[in-house]
Amino acid sequence: MQLYDESSFNKDELAVSSRDMFTPPLNEQRHIINEYSQSGKFTRYDGEKSGWNFWNGSMVGGSSNLMSGYFHRMKPKDFKLRSAYGEIKGANVVDWCISYEELEPYYDKVEKVVGVSGKIVKHKFAEPRSTPDLPYPMLETNEVTSWFDEACAKLKFTAIPTPRAVLSQNALGRDGCYYSNFCGSYGCSSGAKGSARAALLQKCKAKVITDAFVYKLDSKKGKVTKVYYYTKMGIKHVVNAKIFVLSAQAIESSRLLLNSKNREFPNGMANSSGELGKTLSFLLVVVAVVALSSRILQKSSKKHSCKQDSFLTEVFKTGMTIRMDVVFTRVGL
Ligand SMILES: Cc1cc2nc3c(=O)[nH]c(=O)nc-3n(C[C@H](O)[C@H](O)[C@H](O)COP(=O)(O)OP(=O)(O)OC[C@H]3O[C@@H](n4cnc5c(N)ncnc54)[C@H](O)[C@@H]3O)c2cc1C
Repeated sequence: MQLYDESSFNKDELAVSSRDMFTPPLNEQRHIINEYSQSGKFTRYDGEKSGWNFWNGSMVGGSSNLMSGYFHRMKPKDFKLRSAYGEIKGANVVDWCISYEELEPYYDKVEKVVGVSGKIVKHKFAEPRSTPDLPYPMLETNEVTSWFDEACAKLKFTAIPTPRAVLSQNALGRDGCYYSNFCGSYGCSSGAKGSARAALLQKCKAKVITDAFVYKLDSKKGKVTKVYYYTKMGIKHVVNAKIFVLSAQAIESSRLLLNSKNREFPNGMANSSGELGKTLSFLLVVVAVVALSSRILQKSSKKHSCKQDSFLTEVFKTGMTIRMDVVFTRVGL
């Protein structure tokens, strides 16, 4: 987990897209891969042997450094999946214990702190908001997206702009977007992207311990009191504190809790239900890549990837959202 800042994030396409500049090699940050086959068997092997490389975001501020910054809110029904859509055989779908309405004030707060740009357009499936619009105006739009809008109009979809956690102007002590053409998967060199690092960590006075991997938590009277971590050199350390916040992404957070067994928590922490780590719900992403001639890209190069359209459709007659984010960016070489 390294500490990068704006000066670290150059737009070296070869290094980032082809040489995994921000993706540590698996032999340096080892993990085990369980591969599930259709016959129902798991094969377990050392990640280094897999040839895969997906360990991105292992840096201060996490994957939000590399995100494209499409900043969707969940829909009220996303919190009530079981009540809204029913059970799925073999799965364990449950309603969340909190509602969209309870979370809404925090969505609003986060949009302000992170610096979200866009324009709220009325739509019958749009989630309710306590504020009429996003804190910052829309980013510039790429000419090519007008083709997309036209095609959608023909299909009777409603194109609405997607909120972006990218500042369209200088604000919050950060520079606005300068439309570099390299956004998602790249770190932001202006500070416009509202990563957890640029928007929060870089501004706070806390001491950040980098290159430290937590492997176990410990508790006293039901509260976490210690975390143990390894340094890059493999040396063990311990931190004692009154309050801990565990935010190592969904899988690693669950893994750490399961790995933190003690007399108080024989099945791992936060696992009185026995359900910890058993249910994972994904956002399904379908990617279509379109190759455009350099003449067209040139025409709109200064405004890459800064318009995305969301389409809320009635396909499922439930108000389920189909979102299509149009990204204009250069990939690979
Ligand atoms: C290329 C890319 C594009 C994306 N685009 C979008 C987008 O447009 N919109 C969107 O909503 N989402 C996007 N995402 C996803 C989004 O970035 C993540 O969902 C989000 O950052 C998850 O936040 P998190 O805090 O849960 O985890 P992370 O951001 O991954 O942070 C976890 C942190 O914990 C650290 N960590 C992990 N294990 C340990 C350990 N054992 N000890 C110590 N530290 C540990 C990691 O180093 C990291 O800093 C994108 C992600 C990527 C990689």
